[in-house]
Amino acid sequence: MRNTGTLFIVVPCYNEEEALPETSRVLLGRVAELVESGRVSPESRVLFVDDGSTDGTWEFISGLREVSGYAAGLKLSRNRGHQNALLAGLLAAKDDADMAISIDADLQDDVAVIDGFLDKYYDGADVVYGVRNDRRSDSAFKRRTARRYYKTLLKMGVEIVPDHADCRLMSRRALNALAEFKEVNLFLRGLVPLVGFPSATVEYARQERKAGESKYPLKKMLALAWQGITSMSVRPIRLILSLGLILLTLGIAAIIAFAIICACGHPEWQWTIILAAIAAACGLNLTAIGIVGEYVGKVYLETKARPRYIVEDYFK
Ligand code: UDP
Ligand code: MG
Repeated sequence: MRNTGTLFIVVPCYNEEEALPETSRVLLGRVAELVESGRVSPESRVLFVDDGSTDGTWEFISGLREVSGYAAGLKLSRNRGHQNALLAGLLAAKDDADMAISIDADLQDDVAVIDGFLDKYYDGADVVYGVRNDRRSDSAFKRRTARRYYKTLLKMGVEIVPDHADCRLMSRRALNALAEFKEVNLFLRGLVPLVGFPSATVEYARQERKAGESKYPLKKMLALAWQGITSMSVRPIRLILSLGLILLTLGIAAIIAFAIICACGHPEWQWTIILAAIAAACGLNLTAIGIVGEYVGKVYLETKARPRYIVEDYFK
């Protein structure tokens, strides 16, 4: 059993001016209740991270200073994407917080999950994963692709918790460990399990978005999915290698067969097979080069070690 600690709820926000009034009311109210009931210390905060929004998001967040003593705000110098914004919030929180919970600004992750997180934290868990047990609010397409994607990741040897997105609690020592991971190609869902320490899960039903539109169009979703594989696993390279070996073997076999057929006096139609073989080999080559290039590109970005985000403003 741990002592009462300081909780930071980290909320990444990108153009969320429509969702924030309700979200901030709910989350700030929740923290106030938790402080009153002695579950968390009065130094606890809801930290809203403005991920370079172009609407009135930051104005709203700074306005919260007058509304509640539990409000905190962090402004990034430009849009860096959900993963970086979340990391910025978590790393800012780790200096003051004993634990940080990350939750989306649209309240799709049920706020009730916070209580479950705290229970597990006080029982000794350093990482508590929020697992969606009911995804009815997501489209059938998103549900199906998500399920297949988690399976693929597991097959690629990426350790992830199925149906867990970025709604989780991390203790201070887990956050400190996360801070040691310096990679710029971020996929937090894949990194957090690598941190280790005792962990637990809490199930919750995913809700409808409260207001505004999804900031994750299909294109961004696919980009994140791709990032998940290529920043965490080198198995695609090996897959290509085995595929190349198979093709090479088949090619040699085909040449031998072709030679035999020619020798038997039927050379007329064989050229089509050769064309097909050339096309297939070219396709394979390009795919292989493309995939290897993807990793080379990642190495390039990692060696430059650019800052993952730049903080423009912070109040707490
Ligand atoms: N978000 C962000 N930066 C971005 C895109 C999204 O900080 O570039 C935040 C967004 O404000 C929200 C969370 O990431 O709090 C999840 O985004 P969203 O709800 O739009 O994704 P979905 O739930 O539709 O997958
Ligand atoms: Mg959402």
